[in-house]
Amino acid sequence: MQLYQSQSLKIYNSLSGKKETFKPINEGHIGMYVCGPTVYSNVHLGNVRTFMSFDMIFRYLKHLGYKVRYVRNITDAGHLENDADVGEDKITKKARLEQIEPMEVVQRYTVDFHNILNTFNFLPPSIEPTATGHIIEQIELIKNIIDNGFAYVVNGSVYFDVHKFNETNKYGKLSKRKLDDLIHNTRTLDGQSDKKNPQDFALWKKAEPQHIMRWPSPWSDGFPGWHLECTAMSTKYLGEQFDIHGGGMDLKFPHHECEIAQNEAALGKSPVNYWMHANMLELNGQRMSKSTGNTVNPHELLSGDNKFFSKAYAPSVIRFFIAQSSYRSVLDLTDDGLLASEKGFNRLMEAMNLLGGVQASKVSSLDIESWKQKCYDAMNDDFNSPILIAHLFEAAKYINQLKEGSETLTSEDLNILKDTLNTFVFDVLGLENNASNNSGTDKLSGAVDVLIKLRQEARANKDFALSDKIRDELAEVGIQLKDGKDGTTFSIQ
Ligand code: AMP
Ligand code: ZN
Repeated sequence: MQLYQSQSLKIYNSLSGKKETFKPINEGHIGMYVCGPTVYSNVHLGNVRTFMSFDMIFRYLKHLGYKVRYVRNITDAGHLENDADVGEDKITKKARLEQIEPMEVVQRYTVDFHNILNTFNFLPPSIEPTATGHIIEQIELIKNIIDNGFAYVVNGSVYFDVHKFNETNKYGKLSKRKLDDLIHNTRTLDGQSDKKNPQDFALWKKAEPQHIMRWPSPWSDGFPGWHLECTAMSTKYLGEQFDIHGGGMDLKFPHHECEIAQNEAALGKSPVNYWMHANMLELNGQRMSKSTGNTVNPHELLSGDNKFFSKAYAPSVIRFFIAQSSYRSVLDLTDDGLLASEKGFNRLMEAMNLLGGVQASKVSSLDIESWKQKCYDAMNDDFNSPILIAHLFEAAKYINQLKEGSETLTSEDLNILKDTLNTFVFDVLGLENNASNNSGTDKLSGAVDVLIKLRQEARANKDFALSDKIRDELAEVGIQLKDGKDGTTFSIQ
């Protein structure tokens, strides 16, 4: 018997606008696709929030005993500036500005993305496919769409015929937009004149001579439209219909709407049973976004080296802060919020450390079984992590009472309490018990200060061999000491 058989999971489905009881297509198995990053710059904390929400969801589904195939792609071609069908490819632009190969841009920012995910204790997805690795699949899809009469070719580019599609299918069902309204609200941009209608979107674009990333196709040497890669990769790895598709709220339209249209046009089926959208992270009340520059990059928050926050925060504190609001709410990243989360996180960790020393006894006032079920109920209610955390705090308070001796617990209940806390805190929320009041950076500074003091002592004792050794060996690991009139400082290379 797997846990999911005794729990009733509900998921808010953006398609229906309701919380629905979750039922996978194949019992015990889940296919989940989440749109990954476009790797043309460092991920910012907004991106991290979305991926973290799906990491928590992945963790909980696995904990329930489902076999989850989690596919999260890397967009390394086809995503044009302004998310539109005109303009330069975001990766090519970066490559041009930095005078390097587009694939060097891709490599650099994919590595950065993975480093960040490791720092925040993400579980790796089951498959991490790239757009450039699936050009053939994308071309095949376009052929199907053309054969089915839903796309047309103009000057070597292929466009999806939204109006034609809307005659038999419903375009806009995810974002609740009507084609008529779109017609009235779409501006015609220069360069879109190849399209029959401005609402149409590119499936294949003929490459201009200066466009470096290009592939041969039946229509031209060119590149695929941005929306197509996710249809190609989700279909390839999860099938024509699968359980969960996620991404940030900003992708609902047009990206996800176009995915649905492409699937229906190519394969005749609506691809996804549960569409999930994570809400936006804000900074100073404005959406964090690469294009406006209103961002904090995770390195800056982790090191404290930024103009917004009073100190450095540990990865688990940031994870905790993010889990303290529902993935469907807008969240504003503030110093006060982070400080409060740091306090809360430390309180929870202290309680968990105390639990090791608690003695079992016979009577208990907290009904452990019902408390445990409340934790599950919170997560079963569309992954409501803030409510889960409220229950974890209730347990922390209780553990403090146990320690003081004003409460007692049977050994069986004690084990359930420990297991449940470990499950939710470490396995589901993905927190790590290594972030005390000091972040890793604070600790490193502390350790270097100790070495600087020892070096001063060595110098005072005229032991210059030792003092030089300390300086040289620190330099070897990339820490430079600088002697000035106010003492010794250091910098990390
Ligand atoms: P991108 O690399 O821009 O394609 O974005 C990668 C993911 O991050 C997508 O799922 C976006 O929806 C998501 N995202 C972008 N900005 C934010 C934000 N401010 N808050 C939360 N998620 C975001
Ligand atoms: Zn996508």
